[in-house]
Amino acid sequence: MGLCPRCGAQLSFGAIFCGSCGARADGHEMQDTRSDPRSTHSIFTSTEYTLQKRILAILTTFDIKDASGNIVARGKKEVVPVGPSYFVETPEGVRVGELKGAVALIPNRPYLEIRDAHGEPLAVMVMRVAKKPGAGFFSVGVTTWVIATPSGEELTKITWKKGGHDWTIETPDGTTIAEVHWKWREVPRDTYQVKILNSTAIDPYFVLATVFGNPADRSNLA
Ligand SMILES: [Zn+2]
Repeated sequence: MGLCPRCGAQLSFGAIFCGSCGARADGHEMQDTRSDPRSTHSIFTSTEYTLQKRILAILTTFDIKDASGNIVARGKKEVVPVGPSYFVETPEGVRVGELKGAVALIPNRPYLEIRDAHGEPLAVMVMRVAKKPGAGFFSVGVTTWVIATPSGEELTKITWKKGGHDWTIETPDGTTIAEVHWKWREVPRDTYQVKILNSTAIDPYFVLATVFGNPADRSNLA
């Protein structure tokens, strides 16, 4: 069991990121592929989206629509032995990104990689578990969900509510910048509504990605 190269906290077994400060546990400051992951030239420029899951025989897709009901993009699932991926494409079939899920939820390891059109990671969704200061080895940790850069810098927090049926995306200091509502009680059941409250604070692509990384809807991925 090692210590974090940045803050010295004890690392949990197999951790890629420190649960306390979020730094990469191997000390490698990975080169982020973009200087500022918050300002992108992505196709997601609306402030409201609806995502609708369709399961057609062996193919699962997500239609991503803007507030006017126009399809902006589709997520198409592909399952490979290392875990499920959604390839995000325009309606014309041009790839704009990839959401790469992990096989299992492991603290301080990426649960979902948010990649660009070329498969380069832009950010990761991670469940961070840090021990409370002074707490013993077997104490319950403090759990925080974050979207971070590949080197571990926290971009936003994710707060799951009502068992994952609603959630908010917040800045590291706690200002809500997006809200997601899963219409799980309604028909069609697999519809998500996404509202971006502050589009300068985050690329909406990262907010849409949280739908694919909702641990309460594992069936999306597994
Ligand atoms: Zn640390």
